[in-house]
Amino acid sequence: MKVHELHGNLRRVRCSRCRAPYDNSLFLERDDCPACGGPLRPGVVLFGEMLPEGPMDAAEELSGTASSFLVLGSSLEVSPANAYPMLAKRAGAKLFIINMTPTQLDYMADGVIHGDIVETLEEIEKSVSRGSGRRE
Ligand SMILES: [Zn+2]
Repeated sequence: MKVHELHGNLRRVRCSRCRAPYDNSLFLERDDCPACGGPLRPGVVLFGEMLPEGPMDAAEELSGTASSFLVLGSSLEVSPANAYPMLAKRAGAKLFIINMTPTQLDYMADGVIHGDIVETLEEIEKSVSRGSGRRE
């Protein structure tokens, strides 16, 4: 499975000046870029920064062609990621939402569970295992 990380990840750091990416282990040794001396920063998108176009394009394309769309632990309050489930639903996907609290898209979902993600997914996994005849 390919993951398109809209907000980056903490496995990488990058230079604030030349944008060169590095493994986060470099940050334990130094806080400046080996190439240009610029300050290193986490490889994530911080509040107020633009999301990367590549992952956003991929998310939009996949949302428009998915047969099902699963939202895990999101309030669905923040754009643009909160548009993807609606895009998928309008393109014919089944929409399922697992979140602790109600979301603005609960009304259009094919299934909604308000609960802990880990506990809920473990219950689903057990149910699917029982249904397929597998024994624990
Ligand atoms: Zn640099």
